[in-house]
Amino acid sequence: MMEGGGEKGEWRAVANLKGLRCRECGQEYPIGPVYFCEYCFGPLEVDYDYASIRKTISRESIAQGPSTMWRYRDLLPVGEGDPVDLGTGFTPLIKADNLARALGIRRVYLKNDAVNPTYSFKDRVVSVAVTRAIEFGFDTIACASTGNLACSVAAHAAKAGLNCYILIPSDLERGKVVGTAIYHPHLVAVRGNYDEVNRLSTEIAEKYGWAFVNINVRPFYSEGSKSLAYETAEQLGWRAPDHVVVPIGGGSLLTKIRKGFQELEKLGLIDEARTRISGAQPAGCAPVADAFREGRDNLLPVKPRTIAKSLAIGNPADGYYALDTIRRSGGAAAGVTDEEIVQGIELLAATEGIFTEPAGGVTVATARRLAQEGIIGKDELLVLYITGNGLKTIEAVQEAAGEPQVIDPSLSAFDQLHETLLARAS
Ligand SMILES: *Cc1c(COP(=O)(O)O)cnc(C)c1O
Ligand SMILES: [Zn+2]
Repeated sequence: MMEGGGEKGEWRAVANLKGLRCRECGQEYPIGPVYFCEYCFGPLEVDYDYASIRKTISRESIAQGPSTMWRYRDLLPVGEGDPVDLGTGFTPLIKADNLARALGIRRVYLKNDAVNPTYSFKDRVVSVAVTRAIEFGFDTIACASTGNLACSVAAHAAKAGLNCYILIPSDLERGKVVGTAIYHPHLVAVRGNYDEVNRLSTEIAEKYGWAFVNINVRPFYSEGSKSLAYETAEQLGWRAPDHVVVPIGGGSLLTKIRKGFQELEKLGLIDEARTRISGAQPAGCAPVADAFREGRDNLLPVKPRTIAKSLAIGNPADGYYALDTIRRSGGAAAGVTDEEIVQGIELLAATEGIFTEPAGGVTVATARRLAQEGIIGKDELLVLYITGNGLKTIEAVQEAAGEPQVIDPSLSAFDQLHETLLARAS
């Protein structure tokens, strides 16, 4: 197999990779910064040599790896050099008994990816994409982002010493703008929604030849999400959950979580991967959930109107595949209102002490809806993917959270307040 790469190619072809393959027609391509099929325009996906991986990988070999997502590097599409790693992954899987009681489900776990280096799961996909882009010889990294990707790409570019261009919609939360700007990328706010930013970015990628992590490096980028499935299975004692709820933006995360569980089964690391995968979207931007509920195969693009800005993608690149994955796995999908999203954030905070951003609120609210409808079974082992941190998006819950009690710095002032609070509580 020929592999691409420039002068910086201090990496060799690795045995675990076969190449790229078109998801639609099966046409094969050598590993390179290409992302769609020349024959049918279908998206390209990384193809692995599982027979070869099976010979080297084991539960023990994984356990000896680092306490990051890179303990699964045999299943990630990079060469043999050191990855660009900020310490991403191997995030806590938390048994959520209080939330379980509230949902009426016996066993609920939270995969808390809000604690990654830039506070979202996007560090997983970016760590892979930036590592690969350097291997390809790129010196400029870029992305179109709904916010979390911006923070992560800017941080990894800083660490790797790469030029960096970030394009975002101009209405993002301050936490995401400042959380990106602090790394001093070329940060461009576009007067338009994400779908418009993405269209512009595709034109820029073509004209300037930069590595856009979620456009021309997308086949590699998206593979990083599989690590969320690997970690979940390992942390459950090497078994796949019965049911998971996954937020959908572009739809890549959801499809890759299924791929991750299936690969573990194929490699004999878990017995079976029958996990039902359900998709969570905000009602104000729910092209996948709408199609699921209406029994359609085609997705209708929407103009997003939601507080869940990280999921505000009206024309999701992997939407069709996400819908297909949900159906094949026996899962479901729902779109939840902004009010339900805030309630979801508050429920997670009140029951488990975790502050998530609106995407996490969407996931919790969707799980609540599906549990009420009996779609998630009471006895299913359920995992919720909490993909982002609430401190980046305080605008969304400022009102719901309320303000502190203000007093003068005297004990009598405190005594008075204390009595009022006691009276109010009784
Ligand atoms: C990007 C993002 C998602 C959705 O991931 P996709 O692969 O685009 O579907 C979910 N949650 C958060 C916090 C995100 O930033
Ligand atoms: Zn094709």
